Amino acid sequence: MTLTSFIQAAVMPGVDAPVEVRQFPRPQLEPGAILLETIYSEVCGTDVHLHHGHLAGVPFPLIPGHVSVGRVAETGGEVLDLDGIPLRAGDVITFLDVHETCGKCWYCTVAKASTRCPSRRVYGITYGANEGLLGGWSQAIYLKPGVKTMRLPANLPPERFIAAGCGLPTSVHAIERAEIKLGDNVVIQGSGPVGLSAVALAQLQGAGQVIVVGAPALRLAMARAMGADVVVDISEFSPAERVKRVKALTGGRGADVTIEATGVPAAVREGMQMTRDAGRYVVVGQYTDVGEIELNPHWDLNRKHLEVRGCWGSDFSHFYRGVRVLARYGDRFAWDRLISAEYSLDQAGQALADVAALKVVKALIKP
Ligand SMILES: [Zn+2]
Ligand SMILES: [Zn+2]
Repeated sequence: MTLTSFIQAAVMPGVDAPVEVRQFPRPQLEPGAILLETIYSEVCGTDVHLHHGHLAGVPFPLIPGHVSVGRVAETGGEVLDLDGIPLRAGDVITFLDVHETCGKCWYCTVAKASTRCPSRRVYGITYGANEGLLGGWSQAIYLKPGVKTMRLPANLPPERFIAAGCGLPTSVHAIERAEIKLGDNVVIQGSGPVGLSAVALAQLQGAGQVIVVGAPALRLAMARAMGADVVVDISEFSPAERVKRVKALTGGRGADVTIEATGVPAAVREGMQMTRDAGRYVVVGQYTDVGEIELNPHWDLNRKHLEVRGCWGSDFSHFYRGVRVLARYGDRFAWDRLISAEYSLDQAGQALADVAALKVVKALIKP
């Protein structure tokens, strides 16, 4: 495909409104900007949630698609990648979807938690279609000046990169927060793209055992392919039975570290109970607001001496490390198999429905 003077993109007009293909004029590039011809973008659970209005501050109409890979079509003058090498037309690159993190505010400088920077904007999530081609479900993506780009290493095909997709940097961040020690028993709650990448990363961190608690069977088979030692199907066991099962597998104590990647609020208390006393619990799967839970502060937290850590978004370090891991270990784990289906822009609404119904592990958008 060569880009013409009009660019087609799939647009979410509003909360629960059907996705439609719209045409946009090919943008003029300001100095430092890049026009990226999209090779692949993806559909993830976040897209489903934001379509249902579960995320505050989404400026509809929206071109979704936060993590994408493409070919440089044009640059506004000389533009360098993060290694300082000029980008040329035809280069295959990806970019961090998070932009405009300021580096100057209290969160950026004192807390060193740039994912909580108030200036932060995200392609396909908090940039609306009225601001330009700022989402991946489009034939082309406008990379504003300063967007952090990265060339795909020669041994990392675009298919493999997008198979791991946005789940990978999120997972890298969660694994960093989890501080897994050699030989640890690790429970991953959730067998979506974040949980599945976390299975591989937990092993690279030296976990002694990786237990995945999730569903449906298709995803649990993937969890095994990614190297899970044990899978627990939530459709077969009650929450209390699942906790018992994890304890039985961990000397009666529970996991040293549990990573929640489910998107289901009720999973949080269950995960705390699956974790041993004085263990660590990382919550990464509650990216959108889908409700509240009750817990018992005495049993679940204080007496348990439990450490609970939230994990919000990712920064370029997570993105970069994810790409490096994929290039080095891509053959060892089953990332390639995470892709279940490819959809054109016209089929984007169907892709969203299939992800919502858990019919597919990963749906690609190929504009
Ligand atoms: Zn900031
Ligand atoms: Zn995502």
